[in-house]
Amino acid sequence: MNKDQIEAFGDLVSRADRILIISHIRPDGDAVGSTLGLGLILEELGKDVSLVLEDGVPKVFNHLTGSDRIIREAIGVFDLVIVVDCSDIERIGSVLDEFGEPDVNIDHHPTNTHFAKLNLVRDDAVATAEIIFDLAQELAFPLNLPIAEALLTGLLTDSLGFRTSNSNPQTLRIAAELMEIGANLPFLYRKAMLEKSIQAVKYWGQGLSRIQMEDRLVWTSLTLEDRIAADYPGRDDADLINVLARIKETDISIVFVEQKNGSVKVSWRSRPGFDVSSIATQFGGGGHKPAAGADIKGDLDRVQKEVLEATRKSLQKSE
Ligand code: AMP
Ligand code: MN
Ligand code: MN
Repeated sequence: MNKDQIEAFGDLVSRADRILIISHIRPDGDAVGSTLGLGLILEELGKDVSLVLEDGVPKVFNHLTGSDRIIREAIGVFDLVIVVDCSDIERIGSVLDEFGEPDVNIDHHPTNTHFAKLNLVRDDAVATAEIIFDLAQELAFPLNLPIAEALLTGLLTDSLGFRTSNSNPQTLRIAAELMEIGANLPFLYRKAMLEKSIQAVKYWGQGLSRIQMEDRLVWTSLTLEDRIAADYPGRDDADLINVLARIKETDISIVFVEQKNGSVKVSWRSRPGFDVSSIATQFGGGGHKPAAGADIKGDLDRVQKEVLEATRKSLQKSE
């Protein structure tokens, strides 16, 4: 992301009135925080802003001011379409089907496919929220408390509370600036990262009861039946992957989540020295070296078999 691109983004924003901002399916804290943070900034600039996430806002982010502004469908005509925190166009879902090529893509995934007309992609950023913060500084866009809360949520959740290996002094400087605007870090941390519903923990229980380990690899699955048994409302893994990733005897952990449409959502996590994004891209997914994911067509057993095979191969190569 260079100066010209930042300027080009500033020009696009100043010329637009109706702006659509969208992010990826099964949104995480960075998807919600970046969509909302940028949306509220542009609204402060007097723009008519639509915020759309195909899967809506997960309940754990309901405390964010303005989260009720995020709807599930893009309705109307827009002068500018911005996609945030999304490495490839498929991961948006079907929101953009009628709108064609997006204008701007703001993202931090090394696997980003540069699918928009203007691609503001910086893989050194811990979160897309960090890039949005930097853009706001560069372009003298306004920040206020709800914006700071949204951006800090993105920063916190993607860095797992500043403990991913890419967390650095600048991450903490930005967090400090957002706190100075008034964002309550302990509160946001507790809401977005610590608190779990009883359904989510029961859902974890289903997955944990079937956990498997082989050499330095650990995995489990969550079926549609598990979701019903636990009465869990989401179609994600309720962050079970980050529970598995804490098992110290492993290098790579995987969670398979069965989906209603005959596909499986796979999440990988790895220790430093292992690159799971290269495995995820083999299956049409993406992500970062230590954290990657893919949506793979096929039934749970077959996907599990193929993914485990590819992951074992990758582990052998890394040894
Ligand atoms: P997750 O396992 O969903 O927590 O995602 C881990 C990382 O992989 C995040 O950086 C995601 O943005 C990325 N990721 C997850 N699923 C996909 C996908 N289907 N395609 C591309 N990237 C993905
Ligand atoms: Mn994300
Ligand atoms: Mn992100």
